Amino acid sequence: MNILDGKLVSAKIKEDIKADAAAFTAQAGRKPHLVAILVGNDGGSETYVASKMRNCELVGFDSTNIRYDVDITEAELIAKIEEINADDTIDGLIVQLPLPKHIDPDKITEAIDYRKDVDGFHPINLGRMQRNLPCFIPATPYGIMLMLDYYKIETAGKHAVVVGRSNIVGSPMSILLARNANPGNCTVTLTHSRTKDLKAEVLRADIIVAAIGKKNFVTADMVKEGAVVIDVGINREDSTETKSGFKLYGDVDFEHVAPKSSWITPVPGGVGLMTIVGLLKNTLEAAKGNIYQK
Ligand code: NDP
Repeated sequence: MNILDGKLVSAKIKEDIKADAAAFTAQAGRKPHLVAILVGNDGGSETYVASKMRNCELVGFDSTNIRYDVDITEAELIAKIEEINADDTIDGLIVQLPLPKHIDPDKITEAIDYRKDVDGFHPINLGRMQRNLPCFIPATPYGIMLMLDYYKIETAGKHAVVVGRSNIVGSPMSILLARNANPGNCTVTLTHSRTKDLKAEVLRADIIVAAIGKKNFVTADMVKEGAVVIDVGINREDSTETKSGFKLYGDVDFEHVAPKSSWITPVPGGVGLMTIVGLLKNTLEAAKGNIYQK
């Protein structure tokens, strides 16, 4: 068993991003700039946004966190997004999900200018990804692809089974793994809560991507000997053992699955750190105008 070490890979890629950001800043006379909008005070979302902002600073980007109370209206939020769309000093805009029930996440996603959509959730970016055209790729699947690339994990011709079909992780992951690209060229099975005999499906996998949101959901009896296991899950549980007051668990029963796997991501220290890298890379590309001309 080998560890796919998100700490190591993210640190290396962030060094490259930092050098690129410095070159951009010297040339453009300003830093790449990411704005994150956070509505309400969901504990998980606050942690994620704080980490994104901190990482922006670390690599030499400007970052702005705009916070709204939970009762902001959809129209007010869209007005702010439109203001940011028109601001040439802002390269990337993300609106942290989930949003309160009275705000339609699809409307918000589509209100963001696709050229600033560094989360890669806008239908234009998703459509371009499907067609293998330059685009912003959703940060988590992008981070996973960077990890597979870093470790030169053989993917061509492999059978990948993705568990979970969300718009932000499972579905884009299945598209990326199936694309005619490297990494990619997998035969992909996309599974979800209506899949019959999930265990039989997962057992056939050379590569498993678990994005379900249930602690220790993928157990050792579901995993083929030698499989590559990517654990996307972040499940928080209260704990008296940690300073933060909670502990993180993946969707994979790491203790029992790891000995059977050829490669596996830990939680924490795996995909979560790579997600940040995906976001930073998208923001840098947005600033440089490499994907969509400014
Ligand atoms: P969603 O809740 O949006 O999607 C979960 C998916 O899992 C759904 O497609 C659902 O199926 C499927 N599912 C649920 N129960 C079962 C089951 N019993 N059998 C098979 N499939 C099932 O979650 P996300 O994709 O947003 O997130 C998944 C996990 O990844 C979470 O723990 C989240 O915190 C974490 N995450 C981590 C990130 C990181 O940076 N590491 C980034 C984003 C998310 P159905 O569609 O049928 O309901």
